[in-house]
Amino acid sequence: MLNVLKVRIYPNKEQEISLAKSFGCSRFVWNFYLNKTNTQYQETGKGMTYCQMAKDLTQLKKLSDYGWLQEPTAAVLQQSLKNLESAFKNFFAKRTGFPKFKSKHSKQSIRFPESCSIKGGSLKLPKLGLVKARLSKSVNGKIKSVTVSKTSTDKYFAAILFETDELTTTKQGKISGIDLGLNSLVTVFDGENYYKVDPIKPTKKYAKRLRIRQKALSRKTKGSNNRRKAVKVVAKVHEKISNTRQDFLHKLSRKLCDDNQVIVAENLCVKGLARTKLAKSIHDAGFGMLLNFISYKLEREGGKFVQVDRFFPSTKLCSCCGHKNDLLNLSIREWICPSCQTPHDRDENASHNLRLEGIRILSTLRLRSGLTVSEAEPSTNTAGHAEIQACGESVRLVGTCAKKRVSEKQESPATLRSN
Ligand SMILES: [Zn+2]
Repeated sequence: MLNVLKVRIYPNKEQEISLAKSFGCSRFVWNFYLNKTNTQYQETGKGMTYCQMAKDLTQLKKLSDYGWLQEPTAAVLQQSLKNLESAFKNFFAKRTGFPKFKSKHSKQSIRFPESCSIKGGSLKLPKLGLVKARLSKSVNGKIKSVTVSKTSTDKYFAAILFETDELTTTKQGKISGIDLGLNSLVTVFDGENYYKVDPIKPTKKYAKRLRIRQKALSRKTKGSNNRRKAVKVVAKVHEKISNTRQDFLHKLSRKLCDDNQVIVAENLCVKGLARTKLAKSIHDAGFGMLLNFISYKLEREGGKFVQVDRFFPSTKLCSCCGHKNDLLNLSIREWICPSCQTPHDRDENASHNLRLEGIRILSTLRLRSGLTVSEAEPSTNTAGHAEIQACGESVRLVGTCAKKRVSEKQESPATLRSN
């Protein structure tokens, strides 16, 4: 299975320049082909596939005006095209919005899909050589790819994607239902006890600092050196906020995964919620990030993460008798079941219901698994999570030419027959 290790790296001056060129070329390739695909789509009604773009790129590099595209490793630029193709696929599958043009002022990243290794305490990358790295854990497995990124605060990171041995042990632990909320971030029911974890509000915590720094920035003249410095200072506060949130969610998900074998949660439509009044609080609490962390940590250790359909009325059902109370609204935190008179705490009751529903789902999966294994055990998508972790982009599927050719081959006999 695939695993990711994200480490901070310290390129020297020469390597920094080389990386800057690669970031630039990779961004150029993305923007150039995003524009070209758009134009072609408007003219012909057809976009460009990865293969077409890659062929076009090879020709483009031969032109004297674009000779500088030959400086970075070819694989890095091809990876940029693959990412673009995936971005389009995700858009058409309604998973993400339309691909955007990349700016040189935001986070930069490139992926080396091959020829990376670890030598001593350093990371060896194509054309860059040995880059000093702070390796917190050892990478024991074949390295698949390395994504190098540079934050807006000028820090460099490398996400190393590597293959580890399949799990042989099955994870032991409890089955817990967790309910997410803004009053208490998670309410957990492990079959015996309920407990709650309060949310942290990093945005609120650093709001004053952010306001002061942003005010200072607004007073600087456009294009000045001082303004550039002030932009970095503001970016540092944003980085602090996001690091605080991530650190907390990593620790919380680690604890939940250590305690449990199975975790059941509601499949929240985080994107849909983000359009509501509560958007800021939900983003601050990091619902989506928490579920993502739990999911990949648990699956990496052989546990199971079950997501219950978000239309399942987890808050309205009485966990004791199953009575459905339609009169509940968001403001009611405690209620008494009209049918069996059990007093309920809204969140605790929801986590109880989620746990029961999760157990029901798992038992039906087990029943069906004798017949259709592939259907019952949806692919764990560890690689997909790794991908998300690795490049921080909305890239879920990695489409390749090889896959397409296979599907074409499979389709062709059918079309022949129908003709
Ligand atoms: Zn009841």
